Amino acid sequence: MSVKGNVVRIQRFSVNDGDGIRTTVFLEGCPLKCRWCSNPDSWSGIVKLAVSKDRCVGCKRCVSVCPQGITSLFDRKQVNEKCDLCGECIKRCIQDAISQMTKEMTTDEVIKEIEKDFIFFLSSGGGVTFSG
Ligand code: SF4
Ligand code: SF4
Repeated sequence: MSVKGNVVRIQRFSVNDGDGIRTTVFLEGCPLKCRWCSNPDSWSGIVKLAVSKDRCVGCKRCVSVCPQGITSLFDRKQVNEKCDLCGECIKRCIQDAISQMTKEMTTDEVIKEIEKDFIFFLSSGGGVTFSG
């Protein structure tokens, strides 16, 4: 059985996260919450959706379809408390202003992505880093 987890992003060609050329898998939900953390956005429930203020034109099409009754995607409190990441607002936004911050992936799916960079690991002595 494949284990599932929430992946914030998979970053290719990382050169600052260990030896050689690496692929860094950023996972959601690190419980340590260090004060110096570079990625506090990946802590569970801190950020579920990112909305680009530059792209948003304030049409409210997104919230008009939200089944959770969220009235503003810029209201972090509402989004954190109610959003279940159904994705309806993302489909509705014609400005492409909304993106989901985490994606549920199986270990097999993550390995499939990592394998694409295998040649770089071999040639540089790199590998994979799992981070928060
Ligand atoms: S649908 Fe997109 S452009 Fe319209 S208010 Fe929502 S985020 Fe902004
Ligand atoms: S992802 Fe779904 S629940 Fe979350 S804000 Fe968008 S429409 Fe609402």
